Amino acid sequence: MKVIVVGGGPAGMMAAISASANGNEVILLEKNKSLGKKLLITGKGRCNITSSLSMEEFIKNTPGNGMFLYSAFQQFTNQDIIHFLKEQGLNVKEERGNRIFPVTDQARDVLACFEKKLKKQKVKILYETQVIELLTKQNKIYGVKTKNQTIKADKVIVATGGKSYTLTGATGDGYELAKKVGHTIMPIKPSLVPLETYEQDLHQQLQGLSLKNVGIKIVDITKGKQIYEDFGEMLFTHFGVSGPIILSGSAHLVRYKNIEQLLKNRQIKLKIDLKPALTKEKLNDRILRDFEEFKNKTFKNSLDKLLPQKMIPVIIKASNIAPEKQVNSVTKQERTALIQKIKEWEVTIKNFRKIEDAIITCGGINIKEVNPKTMESKKVKGLYFAGEILDVDSYTGGFNLQIAYSTGYVAGK
Ligand SMILES: Cc1cc2nc3c(=O)[nH]c(=O)nc-3n(C[C@H](O)[C@H](O)[C@H](O)COP(=O)(O)OP(=O)(O)OC[C@H]3O[C@@H](n4cnc5c(N)ncnc54)[C@H](O)[C@@H]3O)c2cc1C
Repeated sequence: MKVIVVGGGPAGMMAAISASANGNEVILLEKNKSLGKKLLITGKGRCNITSSLSMEEFIKNTPGNGMFLYSAFQQFTNQDIIHFLKEQGLNVKEERGNRIFPVTDQARDVLACFEKKLKKQKVKILYETQVIELLTKQNKIYGVKTKNQTIKADKVIVATGGKSYTLTGATGDGYELAKKVGHTIMPIKPSLVPLETYEQDLHQQLQGLSLKNVGIKIVDITKGKQIYEDFGEMLFTHFGVSGPIILSGSAHLVRYKNIEQLLKNRQIKLKIDLKPALTKEKLNDRILRDFEEFKNKTFKNSLDKLLPQKMIPVIIKASNIAPEKQVNSVTKQERTALIQKIKEWEVTIKNFRKIEDAIITCGGINIKEVNPKTMESKKVKGLYFAGEILDVDSYTGGFNLQIAYSTGYVAGK
């Protein structure tokens, strides 16, 4: 059987490997000059390959249609990708947060494993070959059209990725290809994306500040509803906030009803607990100890041990306590206000950064139109989808790449 795979990212490469393992003639069509351009920038060039959590946990970490992936995650697991890489000579290591990385800390070594296997299994790769049409007859696929030629095949797997970081080749071509043969595309939005905040004066002041162990809550103040809660690392940028827990929060925010309107009306707050390990009482004791130590200083010089330098003037302003006041004259009421601001310092979310800056695309091929056990289209026989093109998306932590391998493997099989 002749199989065409469109797109040479992790999903397409895995699909080509799995299809060729079953003795099929496989052609991989990639519009770039090389394979896996996005893979090379994953995990800041180190590639967070997958997670060590159980596959059930993968579904819990996939707010975008996780259940659709149940079968694919069982058919090709995190252990399978680790084994696959090991077979090609690359060992992995586990880091904080169950994250799996190559021991070499190089995404290019992960890509090399795929390329090695593709070569071994004699997959024909055509570079700089952009597919512009899927060829169908009576709801059955029979090939693809590229800019210069028509290539016939019995089966076609489309793995063209999403619509972010377009320089990597992910320009959303697959959505158009699929739409033309009758598929529905669920609205394309950025997910795992930094967030802009309204407090412009803070952008410059806090830019570059990274907070390692903080708690966050994202709250809809119109309903008093908590949309997301997390603990971990975040950072301030020239436009607002970013970092792992913010990116994960964005995946929930993007799905929240009427979010555009709520953002416009300044009704979405990010509440940051700067001392999540301390209850208000313990924080009070801690502040009293610091005040005792700095009793001859002004209030503004008494927080050095408690907060990062850049944060001190911001919290002082929020607490409404005069910065030049002597520490020993700070009242209990003022201390309560200070504690409140440290435990629940708040900024207002303005918007998502644009999709180009998103780690992952939310939306894509409607999963109701795809068989979850095979990744075959329910609309066109012999047409399959794999990877980010599907309307599925996870948090950070290696889950999104696992989606690519698992759905690619199943489609290829
Ligand atoms: C900065 C960044 C860091 C990330 N880090 C991680 C991480 O550490 N761990 C993790 O799990 N996930 C990470 N991700 C997400 C991960 O990269 C994606 O989930 C994954 O690459 C999706 O794989 P894919 O094969 O579906 O799509 P892609 O990797 O986007 O591959 C699609 C391929 O199809 C090709 N193509 C597109 N259209 C056509 C066409 N018409 N004809 C021919 N070829 C075409 C493209 O050129 C591209 O090579 C990161 C993403 C970004 C942007």
